[in-house]
Amino acid sequence: MIVVLQGPATGECRVCRFAVMTLNTFFFLTILVWVQTSLIIDMAPSVVPQSSAGGAALQASADDQLTIEMLGAGQEVGRSCCVLKYKGKTIVCDTGVHPAFTGIAALPFIDELDWSTVDAILITHFHLDHAAALTYIMEKTNFRDGHGKVYMTHPTKAVYRFLMSDFVRISNAGNDDNLFDENEMLASWRQIEAVDFHQDVSIAGGLRFTAYHAGHVLGACMFLIEIAGLRILYTGDFSREEDRHLVQAEIPPVKPDVLICESTYGTQTHEPRLDKEHRFTSQIHHIIKRGGRVLLPVFVLGRAQELLLLLDEYWAAHPELHSVPIYYASALAKKCISVYQTYIHTMNDHIRTRFNRRDNPFVFKHISNLRSLEKFEDRGPCVMMASPGFMQSGVSRELLERWAPDKRNGLIVSGYSVEGTMARNILNEPDDIIGMNGQKIPRRMSVDYISFSAHVDFAQNSRFIDEIKAQHIVLVHGEQNNMSKLRAALQARFTARGSDTKIHTPRNCEPLVLQFRAQRTAKAIGAIAAKPPAQGDVVDGLLISKDFAYTILDPKDLTDFTGLSTSTIVQRQRVALAVSWEMVRWHLQGMYGRLQEGVDAEEGLRTLRIMGSVDVRQSARHELLVEWVSSIANDMVADSIVALLLGIDSAPSSVKMTMHSHSHHHAADGKAEGSEEDTEAEATTDEEALTPKEGGTGLSVHPFSEQGLLEDSEAKAKSSKDDEVRGDAYQLAKMEHMAAFLEAHFGQVEELVIPEAHSSEQVDQVEAEGSVQAESREGKGDDAADTDMQAIKPAPDSDDAVADADVEAEAAAPEASPASPPVSIASLFDGTPRPALRVFLDEAEAVIDVENLVILASSESFRTRVQHLCTLALRSFTSLSDAFHLPQQMGTSLFQGKHSQLASIPEFGDERPAKMIRSS
Ligand SMILES: [Zn+2]
Ligand SMILES: [Zn+2]
Repeated sequence: MIVVLQGPATGECRVCRFAVMTLNTFFFLTILVWVQTSLIIDMAPSVVPQSSAGGAALQASADDQLTIEMLGAGQEVGRSCCVLKYKGKTIVCDTGVHPAFTGIAALPFIDELDWSTVDAILITHFHLDHAAALTYIMEKTNFRDGHGKVYMTHPTKAVYRFLMSDFVRISNAGNDDNLFDENEMLASWRQIEAVDFHQDVSIAGGLRFTAYHAGHVLGACMFLIEIAGLRILYTGDFSREEDRHLVQAEIPPVKPDVLICESTYGTQTHEPRLDKEHRFTSQIHHIIKRGGRVLLPVFVLGRAQELLLLLDEYWAAHPELHSVPIYYASALAKKCISVYQTYIHTMNDHIRTRFNRRDNPFVFKHISNLRSLEKFEDRGPCVMMASPGFMQSGVSRELLERWAPDKRNGLIVSGYSVEGTMARNILNEPDDIIGMNGQKIPRRMSVDYISFSAHVDFAQNSRFIDEIKAQHIVLVHGEQNNMSKLRAALQARFTARGSDTKIHTPRNCEPLVLQFRAQRTAKAIGAIAAKPPAQGDVVDGLLISKDFAYTILDPKDLTDFTGLSTSTIVQRQRVALAVSWEMVRWHLQGMYGRLQEGVDAEEGLRTLRIMGSVDVRQSARHELLVEWVSSIANDMVADSIVALLLGIDSAPSSVKMTMHSHSHHHAADGKAEGSEEDTEAEATTDEEALTPKEGGTGLSVHPFSEQGLLEDSEAKAKSSKDDEVRGDAYQLAKMEHMAAFLEAHFGQVEELVIPEAHSSEQVDQVEAEGSVQAESREGKGDDAADTDMQAIKPAPDSDDAVADADVEAEAAAPEASPASPPVSIASLFDGTPRPALRVFLDEAEAVIDVENLVILASSESFRTRVQHLCTLALRSFTSLSDAFHLPQQMGTSLFQGKHSQLASIPEFGDERPAKMIRSS
């Protein structure tokens, strides 16, 4: 596994199996894993949506669960607060207060969440039941200890500030348990990040969201949130009806997996807009005609602006009403109107057209702003819009208590009224209301309810849900009764059309856990994707995880596709060792066989390169430097070298060798200091360390090293009478090794040469036999027989061609006839004399052509046994450096795309059975 850390790495650290790579700043937590995976191509298009080259199915992890927990607005309206957790990310949608409560009681259940883990808080709109707890959470919880950010749209942020000032002022008046003060509110307000509608906002890796118009009020949006590919649409409050100034809620262009949807109005149906507008203005007109005052409790912002537009229009059309004043009793109103004027571009065509005609709709002609009740001359009929909308306190409550006893007056509740508030209670038309000071006040004024609430009704909501087509629907922001009615109605629709859409209505603090399909895909890109793989193909490359998406690519493409650059770790290990260079070479040769020896180009130090991957250098008099480029295989070789070096001191063979070589060594070397040395071992070491030249000592070659074997065999070959055999000392060494092995098992081993002394006779014999065989096969028209004939004839001029023909012929030949001794080795003769071995076991006999690795035996079972032994002999004969090919990494970068692997040891393959057995 390769793990990416930030920053370049150098030095001599011993970090096995880790390669450190420099990072582009774009990649923060990318994990690269070398994969070699069997390809499983899932044919379902929804699973492999973008991968042109197919995807590798990856192991599912246990965290594919989306947890939705309502800390408020679960089966209620008010204190909206929805927590989404998925893949270690946490998003909170809305942080409102409950209008029916004050102080801490109005907050969502914020203790249920560790706010420092929150990645982002998204506020849909400025209404208090969605935004008013934000300051408290930002300033008074551990949210500030984390890295979370807060987002809302530009108009929401602008209005939020004014609204919250008002909220602080009202809730702090006469209340001891105020949640926060103005300064805290402003401090947190400055940290809020304002976003545009339709802006794709990336919060962190794999976490992004986009705001879509929600209608409802100025700046209100829905959030389409994407966490690691999972899409959640959180609607907040939304309306699907275009009114005097706002656009209707949009249908986002991408289909979410989960829809978290308001259910304020349940299954109720709104009155058509023109009808209710007519009813509204008629009722106002009626109250004024009877000499009464009209009280319109509203939120400072939102529906108020819509009603102001409506009233201004109505007054303009009815000159007889011009003497009746319309007041908007809010100090905030003027400030907020400027916000409305600023964000006219986010409103609907109606408003923008008027604005473009220089007819600013928010400059009202018939409405006067009332800064405070003290300046209000309460004489005769009037229309008074006053906040707050729920009449829990403030101007609207004061006027309600003042005007309630007069039956000429009228109250029109125009928005949704939350349970437990005065606005809700008075709809039941009680005979008395309880004043702020606890006194009973008779109610004689008329009470009407005309909903201008900008929430969807059942028809709009169910159509919206149908269009969104989410797999899971979570109903929030609705009273239990409304919500369960809506749920039943939706369920009936889904059942009727055979849809398996799930509807959930979680209660506060009861987490809803949704499981999503665990299978993920890795996109193959670059060179790996050049050739579309087939089912079951093995894909070999680097697996890159970024933002919960997986990519598999060739290491060569790493920089091009990811911006990551690779670097290598060169590891160095110094070993203090008081033995001679020759001794080191001698031991290393014994273990690894062939070594490359030379001088380091940079420092001119004597260097041994072992298995092409690890260098051992004599860096100082009593010090060796082991240096290698880190990789799994090289680290392993280096470990073994270091272990070997550390053991040289105490190895009995070392002691023996140095004792033995003492006098001879000094004589050969001819160094002057010899006489001054105290001990033999030290003398050897010191001199050798200072003498960087090849010593012709008996120590220089290990007898078991490949070179040692060669030298030994060469000597023997020289003494051999047979000149032809002397050609390849290595073959001779191999044969001797094999002979020793076989001798240990069978006792008697004969060394022979192909062809033997009386070869011509045997060749003739075989030739004759061959013709017999050829004759017998003639009926079948087998060409192989002829080739076979040629193959066994001596043809020194065209060795290679014949040898090839021989192999082909043997491969094509049918299963040999039952074996019977003795074995004729003449059949092996192809014109090149070479060594062979003969072994006997009781009656059975086998001849081994050592060079070509062909065995002739008198029986199949004996041949198998001999072959097995010869294979073992070959394996033990092949030195480590020949048995393993390591990727050449000295001075080159990592990721050559090759793993270390077993080098092919010459073998007695089963592919050539016909050649193995032949009877004479
Ligand atoms: Zn709202
Ligand atoms: Zn709301």
